[in-house]
Amino acid sequence: MNSCLLCETPIAQIPSWKALLALEKQTEICQDCSKEFQRADIKERDPFLDQITSLYTYNEAMREYLHQYKFLQDVALASVFANELRVHLKGNATIVPIPMHPEKRIQRTFAHVDELLKSTRIPFAHILEKTGTEAMGEKSRAERLAMDSLFKVKPGTEIQPGTYILVDDIYTTGTTLRHAATVLKEAGATRVEAVTLIRAER
Ligand SMILES: [Zn+2]
Repeated sequence: MNSCLLCETPIAQIPSWKALLALEKQTEICQDCSKEFQRADIKERDPFLDQITSLYTYNEAMREYLHQYKFLQDVALASVFANELRVHLKGNATIVPIPMHPEKRIQRTFAHVDELLKSTRIPFAHILEKTGTEAMGEKSRAERLAMDSLFKVKPGTEIQPGTYILVDDIYTTGTTLRHAATVLKEAGATRVEAVTLIRAER
């Protein structure tokens, strides 16, 4: 018997044909924990992104989840929202995780967005990489705004006309997604959408 990844209560699994065929991952958290998360299901548009879909609100349960997943590095938690994310990543689009700065990746021990995607078992492509360093704090606001993009297309990658879906854990101001979308469109993407697990207030 599985235990809930969040509270360790045993979970009774109901066998289903989907589970038997491994089309769907088994439930990873119990009903009580699951109820604590609040669906947002927000779809937004902005001048840079053709569509931004966010699945959950940033409530207390989600804050705790992110803390345990990202900062306490509990990589098993990557699969908690796999079924919900998968629904939004189907189709012919190329799935592109927002990349982490390599130094940060070492600090955190794993790339949290990549792990979320791996749990959905939908193929994704590392097309973007971070530019420069993270020393934003030393720059003034005007300097930051004038700076080049946060991302660039990986050398040697050809961007085909078509739809690209950026994936990130949390959507707050949208700066990260806009930078990434702009780079992809300048390189030839026809349509750029985004899917984020969480929609937070600015
Ligand atoms: Zn639980």
